[in-house]
Amino acid sequence: MAASTQAPKAAAVADYDVIVVGAGIMGSCVAHAAAFRGARALLLERFDLLHHLGSSHGESRTIRDAYPKAQYPPMVRLARRLWADAEAEAGYRVLTPAPQLSMGPRSNASLLSAIKSAGAEEVDLAAKWGGAFRVPDGWVTAVSEHGGGVLNATKAVAMFQALAVKKGAVVRDKTEVVDIRTGPEGGVVVTTSTGEEFHGAKCVVTVGAWTSKLVRSVAGLELPIQPLHTMVLYWRVKPGRERELTAESGFPTFSSYGDPHVYSTPSLELPGLIKINYDSGPPCDPDSRDWASGGGDVAERVARWIEEFMPDHVEATDGPVSRQSCMYSMTPDKDFVIDFLGGEFGNDVVVGAGFSGHGFKMGPAVGRILAEMAMDGEARTAAEAGVELGHFRINRFEGDPKGNAKN
Ligand SMILES: Cc1cc2nc3c(=O)[nH]c(=O)nc-3n(C[C@H](O)[C@H](O)[C@H](O)COP(=O)(O)OP(=O)(O)OC[C@H]3O[C@@H](n4cnc5c(N)ncnc54)[C@H](O)[C@@H]3O)c2cc1C
Repeated sequence: MAASTQAPKAAAVADYDVIVVGAGIMGSCVAHAAAFRGARALLLERFDLLHHLGSSHGESRTIRDAYPKAQYPPMVRLARRLWADAEAEAGYRVLTPAPQLSMGPRSNASLLSAIKSAGAEEVDLAAKWGGAFRVPDGWVTAVSEHGGGVLNATKAVAMFQALAVKKGAVVRDKTEVVDIRTGPEGGVVVTTSTGEEFHGAKCVVTVGAWTSKLVRSVAGLELPIQPLHTMVLYWRVKPGRERELTAESGFPTFSSYGDPHVYSTPSLELPGLIKINYDSGPPCDPDSRDWASGGGDVAERVARWIEEFMPDHVEATDGPVSRQSCMYSMTPDKDFVIDFLGGEFGNDVVVGAGFSGHGFKMGPAVGRILAEMAMDGEARTAAEAGVELGHFRINRFEGDPKGNAKN
């Protein structure tokens, strides 16, 4: 792909239809969607491309149809279609299909609606996956046969960046945006830490865990998006069990509701290891993270879960074999922020943020929606796909700094 170093160096001032700030999965998908539509798109990234300091790096993310809230299944369906389109355009795969297993206490209302939303069927786990799981009495276990899957995260981000460049987008890394203001003749002026200025008709802000900081300094608006330090944990599969837990042999992606809430992808990217993670982590500052112990007691919690639920198949005694740090960007209601920034910027600046640990799978859908909002002032594709954007408005946080008021 055309690397950032190939971007035009002479132009201190450039004109773009859409300037996208932040090149994680969301910004990369926006740049691709905008360039695909013929827009002159510029994607600016503060660090190296495909760096490990944000939220979109690593070997795997789950895609699943099972969702407790009604606004997400249509977005997942739209995203699946767009993942397939992008794979066809790129000529290689980033998604490995898998069944999706949802399990937890039968009294858990969120779990029951997730099962319903996916049309998942209750199954006898022992009959389906041998003795891999030991589930307590009173738990429900339901599978949607084609409802899960594993996305190769870094490869997928790289794919969208490459496709965007192929369609004419300019990608610049090591370019930190420090200010966005309205242009003297309309549009926006985006300023970098080296004083470079870019003029654009529209701007899309997709800066992940840095959103609150940037939006506060640009617009004086407090968005309640809290970064969490999370951990990707890989555990050793017990000798002789390796094949049983592979994607190839049909092992599922799964979510285990209850305390702790853990989720997993089948053994795929690292032979003999399986990823089992805790779905949370302690609050952090994205600019000063504690890399040594930032994950708190997450590994111990997951180890206890493994010892109770998968003791014959996964080794937990010596802890995880591999740990990787990552960040969630949490909103109080765990719903995304997809909205115009408003105020003096009106509809010229669009924000996509607060993906609360479950946004990756929806990247291509979110990218298309944000690009349409910037270019057309509305997201027609979302309406056609039945995605209700009303759930993702900034004004749901008004009057309650914790943002709990309207959900
Ligand atoms: C451990 C873990 C597991 C997850 N599992 C799943 C899963 O199974 N399924 C799922 O769907 N989702 C999952 N997620 C969530 C998903 O990965 C995120 O929702 C998604 O990656 C967020 O992407 P983003 O583009 O918003 O943020 P990021 O990937 O963080 O991208 C933001 C980018 O903006 C850049 N930036 C910041 N400030 C500036 C600036 N001033 N100027 C220029 N650039 C800037 C950053 O450097 C960064 O590259 C998981 C997340 C983690 C951490």
